[in-house]
Amino acid sequence: SKWVYFFGDGQAEGRADMKNLLGGKGANLAEMSSLGIPVPAGFTITTEVCTYYYENGETYPDDLRQQVADALGNIERIMGAKFGDPENPLLVSVRSGARTSMPGMMDTVLNLGLNDTTVHGLVKLSGDARFAYDSYRRFVTMYSDVVLGVDHYHFEELLEALKEDKGYTLDTDLTADDWKHLVGAYKAKVLEQLGSPFPEDPVEQMWGSIGAVFGSWMNQRAKTYRRLHHIPGHWGTAVNVQAMVFGNMGTSSATGVCFSRDPSTGENAFYGEYLVNAQGEDVVAGIRTPQNISIAGKEKNKSDLPAMEETMPVIYKELVEIRNRLEQHYKDMQDMEFTIQRDKLWMLQTRNGKRTAAAALKIAVDMCNEGLIDKETAILRVAPEHLDQLLHPMLDPDAPRHLLAHGLPASPGAASGQVVFTADDAEAWAQKGHKVVLVRVETSPEDIGGMHVSQGILTTRGGMTSHAAVVARGMGVPCVAGAGDIRVDYRSKTMTVGDTVVKEGEVITLDGAKGEVFLGEVPTLQPELSGDFADLMEWADKVRRMKVRANAETAEDCATARKFGAEGVGLCRTEHMFFDPQRIIHIRQMILAEDESGRRAALEYLLPYQRQDFVEVFKIMRGLPVTVRLLDPPLHEFLPHSDGEIAAVAEAAGVDVDKVRNRVSMLKESNPMLGHRGCRLGITYPEVYEMQARAIFEAALEVSETAGDTVFPEVMIPLVGSVKELEPMRALVDRVAQETFAAKGREIGYHAGTMIELPRACVQAGVIAEQAEFFSFGTNDLTQTTLGMSRDDSGPFLEVYAQKGIYPRDPFQSIDVDGVGELVRMACERGRATRPDIKLGICGEHGGDPNSIHFCETVNLDYVSCSPYRVPIARLAAAQSVL
Ligand code: ADP
Ligand code: MG
Ligand code: MG
Repeated sequence: SKWVYFFGDGQAEGRADMKNLLGGKGANLAEMSSLGIPVPAGFTITTEVCTYYYENGETYPDDLRQQVADALGNIERIMGAKFGDPENPLLVSVRSGARTSMPGMMDTVLNLGLNDTTVHGLVKLSGDARFAYDSYRRFVTMYSDVVLGVDHYHFEELLEALKEDKGYTLDTDLTADDWKHLVGAYKAKVLEQLGSPFPEDPVEQMWGSIGAVFGSWMNQRAKTYRRLHHIPGHWGTAVNVQAMVFGNMGTSSATGVCFSRDPSTGENAFYGEYLVNAQGEDVVAGIRTPQNISIAGKEKNKSDLPAMEETMPVIYKELVEIRNRLEQHYKDMQDMEFTIQRDKLWMLQTRNGKRTAAAALKIAVDMCNEGLIDKETAILRVAPEHLDQLLHPMLDPDAPRHLLAHGLPASPGAASGQVVFTADDAEAWAQKGHKVVLVRVETSPEDIGGMHVSQGILTTRGGMTSHAAVVARGMGVPCVAGAGDIRVDYRSKTMTVGDTVVKEGEVITLDGAKGEVFLGEVPTLQPELSGDFADLMEWADKVRRMKVRANAETAEDCATARKFGAEGVGLCRTEHMFFDPQRIIHIRQMILAEDESGRRAALEYLLPYQRQDFVEVFKIMRGLPVTVRLLDPPLHEFLPHSDGEIAAVAEAAGVDVDKVRNRVSMLKESNPMLGHRGCRLGITYPEVYEMQARAIFEAALEVSETAGDTVFPEVMIPLVGSVKELEPMRALVDRVAQETFAAKGREIGYHAGTMIELPRACVQAGVIAEQAEFFSFGTNDLTQTTLGMSRDDSGPFLEVYAQKGIYPRDPFQSIDVDGVGELVRMACERGRATRPDIKLGICGEHGGDPNSIHFCETVNLDYVSCSPYRVPIARLAAAQSVL
């Protein structure tokens, strides 16, 4: 079978749509080559080889070697050079490339094919011995690190020693002979470390690198990245072997990275950075400060260095043309790598660029308005989760602040937190509940875990395309990069700007959109919801089928929900109203009363409060349905604890303290989650639900008197397992409704239904639907009861479960489709069979999770309900799930 795909010289065996087989990098190199864009010739070893490699004890298919040799021969023919030839050596890079880009996860080896003989050829070809030996030492360093596992610092030590010896300060001070000397020293170090020599044979070097790329698929960094991004391990990586081009052949050579639009703001402006006389990852590594590609970019970044547009206008024009072609071709924002070798431009990579939430939104809406993509594509271009960043507060521009330093606006959003200086500290502090800002000189792939748990990231070195910037944007973590005025001292765990010293644990604030760092915490403001956001939401609303409601009970939450476009309240939790300090005493009095009349006395007191709560909710939600859940939490949760609390209840109820104490110990439960809660409260103390139902209907009548016939309550009975629980509770609600309507001489419409949150309710849904006009899936409890896992206790082992792929996603965040989902599906089918017009919704945490929302669409729910801030996310996800 075919394991190797060739590209180069205006042709290619692969295509952009072959990413699964060729990886993203290989597929796009092939596509660019076919488009006639200058790409150094090369070949891609398929991801199937990676799969084969791991399935066959880390060996290769038999016919691979021949196919690689043939492809290498093709490169030699096109480039007019020979691999291993002492006069005219072909050098190659060996690059990994999975289906989706995994920044920094896999390692690339450059300048491969150099040895003590071929380096002479390179000297002759380039006419530059210094360049040749610099390239050689880079190769020895990279190869030793990536393939042989000899750490960088060994070589850095040798380099530093030589510089000190010779009195040099910069790497550029080194001569050809110095580099040559170092290559020898590096190789001696390898021999010392490994007991075997550095490989001189180019073919051996190539296979060593190919093996290292496949090997790196299973390294810890790659595994962590895959886990965080839900990338399955069986995808595998491809390997790309490609002829080298050199950006370090003097001042007419350069290497850089560019984006067809600004990845930070989404603005339709060509954006990029490059370094003259540099190679490969020099730009990303943040070793030197890069130059901007365009004049506009230079002005925006307030850079003192000239732009490529000024210094290399011809190549700049060529690059702009390629940028335009690639964007038109891929119809998405492109992230490109290029190298200029002695005034000749070569493209080395293109892919759909990572972008901030703001940029994703702007680019999608702009491209649609430009006619490049249609509305449906635009809707699909924005990750619902990404919206989260746009909906959250920004720094209040009028708030006082103490500016500490400037850096690059690497990833937008405002973040405050305590300063920590290592990724490990970030993880440890976050584990203890601290909000932290990770401060580093620069970040590297080992820091991913710590970056993930930080509120924000601050680096003192590196550009907009540095590791910190790229990863932070992908994670949606605010980041300020390259804040050069800050000195970080890892040993004393301090950072210093001028006279100001900030110690570990002190609070700073970042504005990732402006690139500013402030001392202390700066207050924040609500975001703007007009413009592109409103446009995209409008398009999404036209497309989606499911309604989106909010879980809200306070006036503030309801107002937020409406502002974000909620079409009703899907869950109004009445107990939240009971924890109010003014009321809890009466709740306790009610719970601890010995008989019904004692309870009624306490409830009488609570009725007006509860009614007023509903009046507020109904007023704000005018014209929209509101699902009110009757009291649900375990009585246990309301019990008084301290002697003082017990005495207060005794006094309010006019009974003896010991009596109260006795009741308290009687009511204690060992597993309250499965105890006296939900409709069990209504069954045992019907007067509680009676009071609540009365408060609902009285409030609804009151509001509808002035607001017209616009209040539509839906009364929800929680935790039902049997229709025999629901039937009496429903009868109670209907009776109270009729009594209230009769007393006021007016009627309104309402529904009565139940929350489905027990497996038994799903099984019995057909019978339960006889008594329920709606079901609302309470998937938090349904997940707990189906998996037999407490949400509050499962964190530690679920993490292990996620690592082992047992439940790949946290079932409390994303619905467990195979278990809980099957039960929901069954309940929907059985409920609809009994009552075809039954209204079905979901009100668990899952109602705001895009993946779970896709599932809800597959079972045809009428609506999802989520926290107010997630309403726009749900609107977009609901639209995407029908496309
Ligand atoms: P990553 O996936 O980390 O971006 P790449 O394979 O793209 O790794 O390579 C790392 C760096 O080396 C990039 O800057 C890339 O442009 C450069 N590079 C890779 N192959 C070549 C080559 N054949 N000639 C010149 N530079 C190369
Ligand atoms: Mg890399
Ligand atoms: Mg790359």
